[in-house]
Amino acid sequence: MNVDVLNGVGPKRLAGLHEMGIDTVLDLLTHYPRRYLDRTNQVSIRELEVGAEALILATVKRSESRKTRQGPMMVEVDVFDGSGYLKATFFKQPWRAKQLPAGTEVALFGRITVFKGNRQMTNPVVDLVGKRTGKIVPLYPQSEKSGLTTWELGEWMQEALQRAGEFADPVPEIHLDQLDLIHRTVAMRNIHEPESMGAAQQARRRLAFDELLRLQMLLVLRKRAVERDSVGIQHNVNGTLAVQFIASLSFSLTAAQLRANAEIAADLAGPLPMHRLLQGDVGAGKTLVAVNAMLIGVQSGHQAALMAPTEVLAEQHYAGIRELLSNAQLTVSHRGGLFTERPVSVKLLTNRTTASERRVLSAGLLNGSVDILIGTHALLGDLVEFASLGVVVIDEQHRFGVEQRAALKAKGDGRDPDVLVMTATPIPRTAAMTVYGDLDSTVLDELPPGRTPIETHWVRGELEVAAAYAHIRDEIAAGRQAYVVCPLVEGSEKIQARSATETFEELSGGELHAVRLGLLHGQMPSKEKEAVMAEFRAKKIDVLVATTVIEVGVDVPNATVMVIIDADRFGIAQLHQLRGRVGRGAHKSYCYLLSDTTTADGEARLTAVEASTDGFELAEVDLELRGEGTILGTRQKGKTDLKLASLRRDKALVVEARRVAIAIVADDPALDRHEELAEEMKLFVDDDEAAFLFKS
Ligand code: ADP
Ligand code: MG
Repeated sequence: MNVDVLNGVGPKRLAGLHEMGIDTVLDLLTHYPRRYLDRTNQVSIRELEVGAEALILATVKRSESRKTRQGPMMVEVDVFDGSGYLKATFFKQPWRAKQLPAGTEVALFGRITVFKGNRQMTNPVVDLVGKRTGKIVPLYPQSEKSGLTTWELGEWMQEALQRAGEFADPVPEIHLDQLDLIHRTVAMRNIHEPESMGAAQQARRRLAFDELLRLQMLLVLRKRAVERDSVGIQHNVNGTLAVQFIASLSFSLTAAQLRANAEIAADLAGPLPMHRLLQGDVGAGKTLVAVNAMLIGVQSGHQAALMAPTEVLAEQHYAGIRELLSNAQLTVSHRGGLFTERPVSVKLLTNRTTASERRVLSAGLLNGSVDILIGTHALLGDLVEFASLGVVVIDEQHRFGVEQRAALKAKGDGRDPDVLVMTATPIPRTAAMTVYGDLDSTVLDELPPGRTPIETHWVRGELEVAAAYAHIRDEIAAGRQAYVVCPLVEGSEKIQARSATETFEELSGGELHAVRLGLLHGQMPSKEKEAVMAEFRAKKIDVLVATTVIEVGVDVPNATVMVIIDADRFGIAQLHQLRGRVGRGAHKSYCYLLSDTTTADGEARLTAVEASTDGFELAEVDLELRGEGTILGTRQKGKTDLKLASLRRDKALVVEARRVAIAIVADDPALDRHEELAEEMKLFVDDDEAAFLFKS
């Protein structure tokens, strides 16, 4: 139903609504209030406290535009509420003069400051209220220039609610009862016309749940549809390769690693292809779990592939995994040639692989003489074909989507390989449920024993910086090694490399002139990089000055100190990941975060990293600070957007929504007995996806 059916919506208003993304009555009804003005609990201007945030309701008495001395236009508005006057000042918003003529009823939200002895608000949030009565006034997000008042929107809401009448409620009563959720019709009315703030809260909770449930239903249905349409490989989990590999290690696996291996083995043995997420903190030992899974594929007569996000990482995985396997001296029987044993063969494929190497590699992949292929996204290329791809490990945080699945499927013998996705650093549980909600999940929640927690200090000012470098010199004197991470600079890899070189030169002429320094950055040829890493490992270099190329995979247990310069330029996850390069051996390790930042955000990040070495805890802080947008990324853009629900504020509801979605789909996979829910889901996906999800 189009919004122009509503009273008073003519061409001009229609255009204003359209500008706000509202075309239908449903769009209007899901245009939820941004906040409420509680008149029963109204603060008068006279009572306003300086320094506090306040929401006031007042009438404009005078408004004036003028030029400031610096040039830009500013608008000053005096408002009065019967108890006193307040000045609102707007910078760089010249249109406010026209928006707020004398006589306008307006709600202002902002912080109270004092300027030349008068209380005022600078750039407050403005809502045009109009002559709305009622105890609680909903304030709607308005496209500032659309000229629509919150009062007009409120009027239309009332009419729209009346026209809509009863809303279908697709959530089974039993779940509503259990979660103490009100009915949708009541919620829709109370979010727009609440009798009390409590009623508005209840309404919000119900409607937020609906958004989360829709999203979880979609993820769970997608998972089920993929399973329904695919033919997996039943791997032989009782072979010898994986067992020999684990036995060859000089340590025993942690309980968490054993649990992960068991969960993965159960998937591999089963008829459905695995789609599993493996999460673990830095250093939790994800690599071994991945290798174990790949070897189960190999011992079952198939091949395995590991895909890394960057060339550096692919090369590091390649070197590390080759070493692990050669220590284990694993052999397989040569395909075709009966009774001949040969070592398990591991190959590398990146953009640096030459054409002639590629030809040899392709032949090996096709005739089955290559068992494990490690590489970058190049693995998904059209020219890469396997004899029988059985297990795929994806080491990256990026989303592994439907297209990649299709690309992989095309590489096998028609059956779907089992897929394990590893994240480099933990992400919060609710975010994992949402971003990776169509995968099963395994968490490595335990670090191998014998690690001493890294001591982290946020270092400010020259004296503290000097002390940090003095500590590096002491550790080197004691036989240890260190990293200095260069400041992150915006721009190209080239600029980053130049800045790293400058840092290197500065340190070699200053704080670290007496020690053996090495430099590592992304612009160096890989031969040179490898040489530097080899020297560092061999203790021929004491301090490695490096860019974030050392972020992942570098494993030198003798390194015990890390200095991160301009640490506030890095995100929490990146700092945590970088810090994970130390604390890998028996010696106590230290991390110094150098920064003179005074921004609230920078301070919050550094304080968090200083206070905790738990990646899961830090991930939660990161979500608090950055909001969910960065985590959800582009993936959630579209009709299933969360308007009310927040992964931050509504953690418990996310968990409940997932539980309910799983229960509903398990009980009624095609939603035959949940017609209203099925209809609603169809509104939120396109026809192709609906056909895919509901194909019987
Ligand atoms: P991440 O989870 O960060 O990928 P890795 O797999 O790289 O961690 O493992 C980090 C280090 O811990 C490696 O040197 C690895 O050999 C070692 N390691 C892994 N599991 C164990 C274990 N159970 N006991 C002792 N050391 C382990
Ligand atoms: Mg690793």
